[in-house]
Amino acid sequence: MLALNLDTVKFKVYNLYSVKIVLLLTAFPLLFVLNQCAFIEPPTKREVCMDEIQLKKEEIVASCRLLVEKGYLMATGGNVSVRIPERNAFAVTPSNYDYLKMTPDDVCVLDFDLNRLQGDMKPSVEAGMHCAIYKARPDVNAIIHTHQVYTSSLALINAPIPHLFDEQVRFLGRSVEIIPYMPSGTGLLKDTVAKHVKNHNNAFMMQNHGALVFGTDMDRALDNVEVLEKCALAYLLALCTEKKVSKIPLPIREIAFSKLRKDQKTVEQRVAEALAKTTGTSN
Ligand code: 13P
Ligand code: ZN
Repeated sequence: MLALNLDTVKFKVYNLYSVKIVLLLTAFPLLFVLNQCAFIEPPTKREVCMDEIQLKKEEIVASCRLLVEKGYLMATGGNVSVRIPERNAFAVTPSNYDYLKMTPDDVCVLDFDLNRLQGDMKPSVEAGMHCAIYKARPDVNAIIHTHQVYTSSLALINAPIPHLFDEQVRFLGRSVEIIPYMPSGTGLLKDTVAKHVKNHNNAFMMQNHGALVFGTDMDRALDNVEVLEKCALAYLLALCTEKKVSKIPLPIREIAFSKLRKDQKTVEQRVAEALAKTTGTSN
């Protein structure tokens, strides 16, 4: 009887030991993980900014590839940029460089005084023009300049595109105006463009040069490039018939344009908030 009791006691003790061992075995890894977590610090503001810049550079490379594939960018013509509100700066393509060879490291990052913050390559000759547009248009977060063919042909015959289609006005503005000719890469072109873009339209033709398209973000700017080229081709074909070209009714144009303005105001507000956060913070 006593032997049996001793066995029961032994069994209980062993059982207790095994429970403790199991607990220790599971607790150790848990404690280790918790201990490690205590050393993982949240990313600093600077690290967040670095990620943001890298993402924007990658976005530029991917967008240029897409524009080349779709035939909107040819050879080394045109240039693409994106605003980096968190850094009060913008990323822009390098000058005269093959888009299909371009990597994120080749993309230049400039502040709004055109000081180079990142990138060893020479920035686009139109960097000053992009900079002036971002200053004039707080709703614009991406700019695409191309030498796309149909739009360029209207820029040669000096034919602004009136309000032809609903989606044109909804995304590009009341009309696609012609900005008078000034030589590429000059301060004269920059100043002329800056004066014309204040009308809230998102697409322009630069006389004897090409297209200039804006977006509240890069995806919108890419879509706008396509909307513009479709309108340009349709208008060009219509003009060739020498028949009367009809337009959408003015009240519809104003409704579509007011929707565009609403989007722009929302983005203007967001950019202003991001800029307010960067005030007082440097590199
Ligand atoms: P960049 O190669 O310097 O960007 O110049 C191309 C261009 O299209 C100039 O208007
Ligand atoms: Zn050009």
